[in-house]
Amino acid sequence: MELRILGCSGGEAEGERLTGLLVNRILAVDAGSLTQALTVEEQIGVRHIFLTHSHLDHICTLPFFTKNIFGHTHAPVRIRALPETLDALRRHLFNDELWPDFSVIPSPDDPTILYSEIEPERCYELDGLRITPIRVNHLVPCVGYKVEDGKDAFIFTSDTAETDRIYEVANATPNLRLFVTEASFPNEQDWLAEASKHLTPAKLGRELKKLKADVPVGIYHLTPGDKPVLLPQIQAIGDPRVRLLKQGERFAW
Ligand SMILES: [Zn+2]
Ligand SMILES: [Zn+2]
Repeated sequence: MELRILGCSGGEAEGERLTGLLVNRILAVDAGSLTQALTVEEQIGVRHIFLTHSHLDHICTLPFFTKNIFGHTHAPVRIRALPETLDALRRHLFNDELWPDFSVIPSPDDPTILYSEIEPERCYELDGLRITPIRVNHLVPCVGYKVEDGKDAFIFTSDTAETDRIYEVANATPNLRLFVTEASFPNEQDWLAEASKHLTPAKLGRELKKLKADVPVGIYHLTPGDKPVLLPQIQAIGDPRVRLLKQGERFAW
């Protein structure tokens, strides 16, 4: 399995791309950076998109992506997400006001994108991969994903405050190679983390005590302007598994 980190920042700035992972060149998890990180040819190669939730930093390149692939694909790209997330896309994004409704373009029978509802804890098998959504604890309905092939697995929690289930799943995954989770705001902004359902480094440190596996823990979603404060606080957790996830890095298992 090949995992490419297209973007992993909690904000957008020069050199800071929003959330997006690409697996085996064909499956995208979240769409915060598809069009900045990939060539048009690479974008046309993306066949499945699994979204974690509706927040803009996880979906914002979908309009430009659909325009790029329009007319270049033989089958619609399937966008899979919770019903609430798909509903938000239909109502607020692909609504002909902010962007054309590519779920009926060029025609309802042969659209550019297809919406497909996912169910937490159900395993989706496609192109040699198995993807399982697991509900996490965020401001809007949100899932993390376990992604595996026959041999290896990684888990991406997406945006989440304190949560248990995805750690139970991680602990029941013997072939886990990487666990990715977030730290969004400095410890001084605990109130903001509470209000927006994110983690501070202190909260992250407590969360990681639930993870039993000795695997790398990639931290993502740092607020760019707060990095100088966040980095020492993440280091202070004192967990040797913890490292920052890097934009552009690739994992191969
Ligand atoms: Zn979010
Ligand atoms: Zn986010």
